[in-house]
Amino acid sequence: GKRASKADGKGNVIVSVRVRPDLSGNDTRGDSEWLIDGKKSLIAYRGKEGGDYYYDNVFAAHDDNSKVYDHIAKRLVRRVMEGYHGTVFAYGMTGTGKTFSMQGTASSPGVIPLAITDIFSYIRETPSREFLLRVSYLEIYNEKIHDLLSMAAGNGAGPNQQQEEIKLREDSKRGVYASPLKEEIVQSPTQLLRVIARGDQARRTASTQFNARSSRSHAVVQIVVESRERVPGGSGDGKRSGLLPGGVRVSTLSLIDLAGSEKAAESKERRQEGSHINKSLLTLGTVIAKLSEHKDKDGKPADKDGKHLPYRDSKLTRLLQGALSGNSLVSILCTISVSSAGSAATSSTHTNETLNT
Ligand code: ADP
Ligand code: MG
Repeated sequence: GKRASKADGKGNVIVSVRVRPDLSGNDTRGDSEWLIDGKKSLIAYRGKEGGDYYYDNVFAAHDDNSKVYDHIAKRLVRRVMEGYHGTVFAYGMTGTGKTFSMQGTASSPGVIPLAITDIFSYIRETPSREFLLRVSYLEIYNEKIHDLLSMAAGNGAGPNQQQEEIKLREDSKRGVYASPLKEEIVQSPTQLLRVIARGDQARRTASTQFNARSSRSHAVVQIVVESRERVPGGSGDGKRSGLLPGGVRVSTLSLIDLAGSEKAAESKERRQEGSHINKSLLTLGTVIAKLSEHKDKDGKPADKDGKHLPYRDSKLTRLLQGALSGNSLVSILCTISVSSAGSAATSSTHTNETLNT
């Protein structure tokens, strides 16, 4: 069969697939052309141009958000707390469960809330270090960056109004960063969840004003973790204003709900949007493929200086340049739905999109 990724689960890039349950309630398993085998991490397609595809993880329809989190993100989040960059992507057609996997629901929290729980557990269990957490939340739509937190704050810049243009800048200390971008210092899980919920609300508002925007944009939550060893008897009384001096570890956890991977509809305007989305997703695909293929003897990407990777070809990869090179971990969750029931796409289009994913 075809091997989609090195299925050892220990690489810098892990690729997983999650199959969404059939929401119509029909049991279509009997006539499905797809075989989903979570134990073997295998997806087999029995139709024309069929094949066997292996991944680091395959999640069947009955697997829940906490199982998905444990396999695709738990270790990565821990590594971020230890000073590595980590990025989790949800990739797939609109309606296949990207947002369900990243955000989840109140009764079934997804990657973002579960990561937040683990971040604060780690901090509690690591009294020898002092931590500073900052969060930002942006959206990339049509190759433009929008700051969801400053929209939410209503700083004279509602979703409808023109925000100051956000540019990507680079300096030797911070790497690539978006500016101006609101970053909030957070000290508790509740506070962090509340900030993200505000960004989600701003995104929903923007989305109802610009048709289908949320399925065509990338939503990027970034949590910057700074830490340093606590000095006994020092002034480390938990006052968290400003940067921590000396021996500071800085790492970023990026949690990304990507734009729908489906082909954009045929209108001219849509095509314009679609070409940006495809460019972004295409560049991301190229960068990630290279990161997962070229390893030096220590298992680090051979291109870790970024020389040969086309980060600059899209806003998304440029923003994530630091997080996608060097000591970084990447986990991609591809979401698919193998039943076309309830989908607007014809069954053969749907199958093609699934095979593309
Ligand atoms: P996307 O973000 O990829 O467009 P959503 O996450 O919004 O897709 O999912 C589409 C619908 O399917 C939502 O109503 C969501 O609650 C439901 N859904 C997706 N994945 C699952 C799942 N694994 N279990 C139950 N419901 C799901
Ligand atoms: Mg979504």
